[in-house]
Amino acid sequence: MGTKGRAIVNLNVDDLLKELNKALADEWLAYYQYWIGAKVVVGPMKQSAMDELLQHAADELRHAEMISGRIIQLGGTPILSPFDWEKLSGCGYLKPEDPYVRKVIEQGIKGEQCAIDVYSKLLNIVKDKDIVSYNLILTILQDEIEHEEDFQALIEDINQMMEREKK
Ligand code: MG
Ligand code: FE
Ligand code: FE
Repeated sequence: MGTKGRAIVNLNVDDLLKELNKALADEWLAYYQYWIGAKVVVGPMKQSAMDELLQHAADELRHAEMISGRIIQLGGTPILSPFDWEKLSGCGYLKPEDPYVRKVIEQGIKGEQCAIDVYSKLLNIVKDKDIVSYNLILTILQDEIEHEEDFQALIEDINQMMEREKK
């Protein structure tokens, strides 16, 4: 922990650490949901879906690294056991039981929308109070917004393809 680094945070640091650990749980669950989704997905445009899922999985893992690094800087302990992920998570885990591409991607969209909600709320909490966390959360939020758009664009392409097939 950096003592001065923690001292300049104008917030209850323990409360902030709880929020950051919650986000960390979300990131790990999202990582696995997309990683396993890329393995099982079937249906039209499967290759594009796999590519997108794997790219997003890599981003979520990077987010987990960024958040855990900030937790340690602030003197906290990142979640030590995967058994705590689901319990602490705000966005939860959507198991890709139905591997059809549209289902898997729609579950992804729900996850991204939850993440956008979580990070925009968190951004308001740290605004003007913890600029380092603010910068980190803003970067993550930008990625989640891009993720939602990527998944929605993929659904659009699938819809287009299906429409044209009918003609
Ligand atoms: Mg993408
Ligand atoms: Fe993320
Ligand atoms: Fe994401």
